[in-house]
Order: sequence, then C-alpha cells, then structure tokens
Amino acid sequence: MRMILVGPPGAGKGTQAARLIDTYRIPHISSGDMLRAAVKEGTALGVAADTFMKAGKLVPDDVVIGMILERVAKLDCAEGFMLDGFPRTAPQAAALDAAMRAAGVELDAVVLLEVPDALLEERAVGRRTDPVTGTIYHLKYNPPPPEVAGRLVHRKDDTIEAVTTRVQKYHSETAPIIPFYLAKGILKRVDGVGEPDLITQRITAVLSS
Ligand code: AMP
Repeated sequence: MRMILVGPPGAGKGTQAARLIDTYRIPHISSGDMLRAAVKEGTALGVAADTFMKAGKLVPDDVVIGMILERVAKLDCAEGFMLDGFPRTAPQAAALDAAMRAAGVELDAVVLLEVPDALLEERAVGRRTDPVTGTIYHLKYNPPPPEVAGRLVHRKDDTIEAVTTRVQKYHSETAPIIPFYLAKGILKRVDGVGEPDLITQRITAVLSS
C-alpha cells in the first residue's frame, strides 16, 4: 500500500497514521516529524527549516522534496509507505509523481481528512505530544493519563497565530493539489470529525472498498 494522508493542520493525520500503520505494516513518513527531528539535532536542514516552521509557514519545496524522496527510496519503503504531511504544494506533488513513475510504482490511495476550519484552532492549541512514545493527546478531547501529563510537549507552531497561518497555507497551497489525485481516481474523502476510533474505521473502510 502506497498512500498519502492529506488534511489541514489539526485534522488528525498524525493520530490516524500511528493507528493505521499497525494494520498496514508500512513505514509512517511524516515530513513534519522529520523536520522537527532535524531542528532538534541542529543539522543544516533543521537550521534552514526552523524559522519557517515556527511562523507556521511552509519550508521551501527543494528542502522538503529532497528529504522525502531520499526517504521513500529506502529499502523499507519497497512494499509501501504512508506519507503524512507531504506533498503539500503542487511542485511537491509533481516531484513525487515523477519519482514514483521513474521507480515504476504507483500510489494506491490519497486519504483526505476533512475537518471544518472552525475546529482546527482548538484542536491544535490543545494538542500535546509525549516525547517518549510520540503519542498525541488533546487536553480536552483525548486527555493524557496523569503519569505522562508532566512530560508532554506543546509544539511551537500550535499557537493561535501559527495555526491561523498554517490553515491559510493549507487552503492556498495544499488544497489545490487535491484535483490532481481526484483525476487519478485515487482520492478518498473521509469525514475527520468524531472520535479517533470512528475515524480510523472510516479510513480503513474507504481503503478496503
Ligand atoms: P506538520 O507536523 O505536518 O503539521 O508540519 C509542521 C511544519 O513543518 C509545517 O507547518 C511546515 O512548516 C513544515 N512542513 C511539514 N511538511 C512540509 C511540507 N511537505 N512542505 C513544506 N513544509 C512542511
């Protein structure tokens, strides 16, 4: 299974990806997680990405495209992969398409998680991540157990200001790539509002149909 998870910031892509890889047994490749790791390690890529990320802006295409194409070319992706947060622009979608064509493989599905803008800010601002396990919580909708509550991290770009910019970027840069996948006949729209378990069920249902 070669698939992409697309959706606005706070749609639940990371939460759902973590659940889906248990079923599909493919690597979960999150461009945001890879960039955050690079920032933490202080690599050249991380230094280049940091300012854009903090402001909620997109990291330049050439940086992200190189990083992801290198990753999907690795041996563990030979049987499939789940991209989360990439592609996010038309040049990224074109670069992925060209690389996959050159490798003689095709995308099976693009899952679009749909969540109204009005819900995104609250979802992101209340989001917390466990740095030890990577588990994503929400202070109100998916509260963490007391034993991990003290170590949770609030992402620097989950502020109201950065989320507003990220939602705008989603509409101006990312939403325009959706017709490309619709035309290929592989777009699966999924209602992203509801309990995480329910949304996982909706995704697995569209993927098996
Ligand atoms: P995410 O964890 O997917 O919400 O990504 C966090 C941040 O990383 C984004 O707001 C961007 O600054 C950057 N980023 C992640 N993926 C991409 C991408 N495909 N293209 C450009 N910037 C990205």
